[in-house]
Amino acid sequence: MVRKEVTPGERLGLAVLGSTGSIGRQALEVARLHRDRLRVVALVARSNADLLEEQAREFLPLMVGLVEEGPASRLRERLNGTGIEVRAGAGCLVEAAAHPLAEVVLNAVVGSAGLPATLAALGAGKKLALANKESLVAGGDLVLQALSGGGELIPVDSEHSAVFHCLSGEDPGSVERIILTASGGPFRGYTRGELEGVTPEMALKHPTWSMGPRITVDSATLMNKGLEVIEAHYLFGLPYDRIEVVVHPQSIVHSLVEFRDGSLAAQLSVPDMRIPIGLALSHPERWRTPARRTTLEDLRELTFEPVDRGTFRCLDLAYRAGKMGGTATAVLNAADEVAVELFLRGEIGFLDIERMVEAVLEDHRPWRVETLDDVVAAEEWARSRALKWRKEKHG
Ligand code: NDP
Ligand code: MG
Repeated sequence: MVRKEVTPGERLGLAVLGSTGSIGRQALEVARLHRDRLRVVALVARSNADLLEEQAREFLPLMVGLVEEGPASRLRERLNGTGIEVRAGAGCLVEAAAHPLAEVVLNAVVGSAGLPATLAALGAGKKLALANKESLVAGGDLVLQALSGGGELIPVDSEHSAVFHCLSGEDPGSVERIILTASGGPFRGYTRGELEGVTPEMALKHPTWSMGPRITVDSATLMNKGLEVIEAHYLFGLPYDRIEVVVHPQSIVHSLVEFRDGSLAAQLSVPDMRIPIGLALSHPERWRTPARRTTLEDLRELTFEPVDRGTFRCLDLAYRAGKMGGTATAVLNAADEVAVELFLRGEIGFLDIERMVEAVLEDHRPWRVETLDDVVAAEEWARSRALKWRKEKHG
């Protein structure tokens, strides 16, 4: 399929995968403001039939889908007579991603469940606005292969959106390094002893961003920044030793790029995901977003400090997995997915997240990722190794 460019007066078909989540809902706010430019053609989520019904009635897409069959059949009954097709099962993600009337696909699913849809969108030559960082962490090599099929990938993650912005019109060869900023999360300044006692409730309170539960916990352990280092490696083609992380608690500078001539470029704004979502949907244009304007007051105190790597060890685990290559990053992500879920259920402690991931990574002998099956097999191995670790530790 040939990708359409955004031309004035024309509406682009938009598919939103993960429309009921934090990013999905904010994307629909942007779409609501730009009904003259975007036409929502497909909406997919996992199980939230109530919200998906509401979104379907407002945006009147051609298809909606839920991964879970039970909620999907309830939704089918409720949307009966509207003419909206209701699909069920994991296949509906791929179906929406490759929908013939979608020119732009926003992948805002959480977890590596988003990877097949990423590959399908790129394989079908779509413009893919990618929030689902796990696609790149679990299957970066496959995503790069799929990109050669003529699709376009624009990052939604705020740090990568900032780097994308800074690189616009630049020669990629002139980039010396990328510096990703991290807020430091809710436990910046904590000691290891203090971290032992952290509860899910405490970890779910992020100081500057409001996000889904997995990424919020990952931000508290700094694993999120580790996943983002891997994401940046695949997106911008830089080796790991040229991707750095700095703590910037105000979350105003969303990342920086250092060029060969000694110049640093950065993108600044109040922390509001509707800005990077808007850029990904509108690029190469820039559309209005509902975000508050950034004022000079907001820039009065911008501070930067090194990451406390001795206390927050997940970041180094991610660098280690990245340098191991092959299936190691898929294993890192899957082990973390399991660990975060167990932590949120109160079954393991906060520091057990990094301990579990480390134990799994240490045992892993990576292999090359050539097909989706390689990723699936590595993830299965990682999940069962993670659960075994938990059994050994906690009985
Ligand atoms: P949420 O948990 O808020 O939303 C996740 C969405 O994905 C929901 O629509 C959910 O459906 C759906 N979903 C969950 N599991 C599956 C599955 N197995 N198959 C299909 N759909 C599924 O997550 P966020 O919006 O916070 O994050 C989405 C992605 O964006 C993540 O990869 C995250 O790392 C990334 N991101 C998020 C940011 C943020 O500010 N939130 C910032 C940068 C990146 P249902 O509601 O029915 O369960
Ligand atoms: Mg981010």
